Amino acid sequence: MSNSPILKVAVNVPLSRDFDYLAPARGTAPAVGCRVLVPFGRRQQVGLVTAQADKSHIPSSKIKHAGEVLDESPLLDASDLWLIRFTSDYYHHPIGEVVSAALPGLLRQGKPLHPSIERVSITDAGVHSDIEGLGRRAPKQAELLAILNDAGGDGLETDLLTEMLPAWRRAARGLFDKGLIARFSARAEDYDEQLVAEKVAGPTLNADQRRALAELRGSDAYAAYLLDGVTGSGKTEVYLQRIQDMLDRGKQTLLLVPEIGLTPQLVSRLGGRLGLQPALLHSALSDTARLAAWRAARSGAARLIVGTRSAIFTPMKNPGLIIVDEEHDHSFKQQEGLRYSARDLAIARARNLDIPVILGSATPTLEMLQHCRTGAYRQILLPSRAGNAKPPAMRLVDTMRAGTSDGISEPLAESIASHLDSDGQVLLFLNRRGFAPTLICSQCGHIAGCERCDSRLTVHARSRELRCHHCGHVRALRDNCDECGETVRPLGEGTERLEDALLRRFPNAVISRIDSDSTRLKGAMHEALEGATLGTANILVGTQMLSKGHHFPKLTMVGVINADQGLFGTDFRSAERMAQSIIQVAGRAGREARRGEVLIQTAFPDNVFWKTLLEGGYRKLSDEAIRERELTRWPPFTWLALLRSAAHKKADAHRFLDVARRQIGDTGGEMLRILGPVAAPMARKAGRYRAQLLLQSSDRATLHRVLRDLRPALEGDATARKVRWSIDVDPIELF
Ligand code: ADP
Ligand code: ZN
Repeated sequence: MSNSPILKVAVNVPLSRDFDYLAPARGTAPAVGCRVLVPFGRRQQVGLVTAQADKSHIPSSKIKHAGEVLDESPLLDASDLWLIRFTSDYYHHPIGEVVSAALPGLLRQGKPLHPSIERVSITDAGVHSDIEGLGRRAPKQAELLAILNDAGGDGLETDLLTEMLPAWRRAARGLFDKGLIARFSARAEDYDEQLVAEKVAGPTLNADQRRALAELRGSDAYAAYLLDGVTGSGKTEVYLQRIQDMLDRGKQTLLLVPEIGLTPQLVSRLGGRLGLQPALLHSALSDTARLAAWRAARSGAARLIVGTRSAIFTPMKNPGLIIVDEEHDHSFKQQEGLRYSARDLAIARARNLDIPVILGSATPTLEMLQHCRTGAYRQILLPSRAGNAKPPAMRLVDTMRAGTSDGISEPLAESIASHLDSDGQVLLFLNRRGFAPTLICSQCGHIAGCERCDSRLTVHARSRELRCHHCGHVRALRDNCDECGETVRPLGEGTERLEDALLRRFPNAVISRIDSDSTRLKGAMHEALEGATLGTANILVGTQMLSKGHHFPKLTMVGVINADQGLFGTDFRSAERMAQSIIQVAGRAGREARRGEVLIQTAFPDNVFWKTLLEGGYRKLSDEAIRERELTRWPPFTWLALLRSAAHKKADAHRFLDVARRQIGDTGGEMLRILGPVAAPMARKAGRYRAQLLLQSSDRATLHRVLRDLRPALEGDATARKVRWSIDVDPIELF
């Protein structure tokens, strides 16, 4: 390497390449994995050095010097950079944007890894002052002084002080002047993994769990395990044992959970059993807290890291194990920008690090099941519920025959009543928030639609609004039709309407609605889940958000209000999805001593889907679905990529995809099928027309070769300027 190497720098711009810079004019060249400020256009940008090279294609007169080096030592090591490179290559996404997704916000902005933290402490003079006397004249000052006196010589972080005493700064002024307290700044230290004093013992593993654990212990090197265990079979107990193995040998575990799965319940269970405080990484954290957890994972101080999707990029000093809980959950796939699957990256990362990865689910995706069939992954079954809990009994209610009022049939209402009478708790699942999905005119039949989307507006009765769930558009709810002025009425039911109907029917029951509307306020979700867990709420009404992962000990009955949405879906995954969501929500019932009961309302009880699911369970349904996918050549038997475009003019959206199609030409040969361009299933959203082009191949390498050539060509194409476009590799939504 020459004295002044060329730096390859990833910069956060939507272009698929690194940029070349000369090492900074002064000082030593930054190592690979360090951040550096670079001139880019008219601005300075934070970049990451991904490689050093001897020469550049850029003429030496044009190449610029990099500016300030932001890290003394590499922020990311070779394996972290490998993951970033792999993600960029596999998802055909600009590397600078991948780096940006991988780093916590503060680092992305160029802030130091160890920000200095302002602290305040009591001085010697303060310790010897007359705090009581002060209390009579200036009670606020005295209170602050007392707090700092208790905190001792190290004082307190100002963030913490603000939490304890929001107006402390005003009180502090006088104390600073008198020299009773002092301010200093300190380096943010590596998180100290507060040991939880007492470890709580767990249950003794049953025979199935012991067998599963023995199999998982078979390898400390790369192996992918699918822990395929019915709901409540004790998968978490098995994870806990494996995490303990890693702790015993000084290795770290990364546990990925779905967005809504990172509940205080889970965190305290993990912490209590392992005797430590897991480092958490999720979207609700403050920037500082996120950085602290990231730093702790990187330094090795945190031995268990629990996070949602983006935590997959967290560096680890001594990685030993990756676990993806509820691998089927859609929140692992990012649906915008960098459209990656954290589950799939977990597998790739484990292979690269040569460590095991465990994928857990009661309803595994067909992709994972197929990998088990080919022998690439190992399937480990937990066929029955742990402890004494029995599987819930499921039955259908024919809504055509029984009829419904506000979505509730008589058999369902009777069953709810009987569970409430015997002190049970009931969960009603309806994956539609708001009061009603449609507002229709009783005279002319006009339906209120969104002006910016091809969609209906949802009636929200509590706020007296009509809302578009696709673009967020809101307008006031009026009683008369826009077209003819006659009376309008809400059609169909959402969770609000269901809640109202239940209040009328069961006036003595405590009803708790849990959806993204009712839990918007800070702390509301926590409170709702607490009521559900303690059993103070008798009837829970909720959307998808309530159907996953929770353990409500008193819950004895689940009612699925409308199960027909997925029966005739157009997506090839409709049946798989619907089976997953029904099995998951049913799995909330009867998780302890009392057997659970599940009632499913459907207008199509004779559909073969129900027979398969009720008689053969998820296993039979997934077996059949795999066979069908093989015949119809859908994933996991073929590989897909979806090219999307959206523009204010319909023609622009389509023209761009025409260009893409021409660009691909026959470079994929026989192995590639190109479908489209066609309008997206929702052809207009938020004022933009949307179109899509589907690429399908039975050979993964062919698909990726085509995409690799396509991306840079599209980046340079003039039609791209008028559209928003994206490449979605392994899409899970075909619209
Ligand atoms: P999963 O992760 O498969 O849903 P969990 O690990 O959460 O299952 O276990 C479900 C319930 O069963 C929990 O209350 C757990 O404490 C209990 N449990 C798990 N394993 C056992 C066991 N071997 N004996 C008794 N109870 C168990
Ligand atoms: Zn809209």
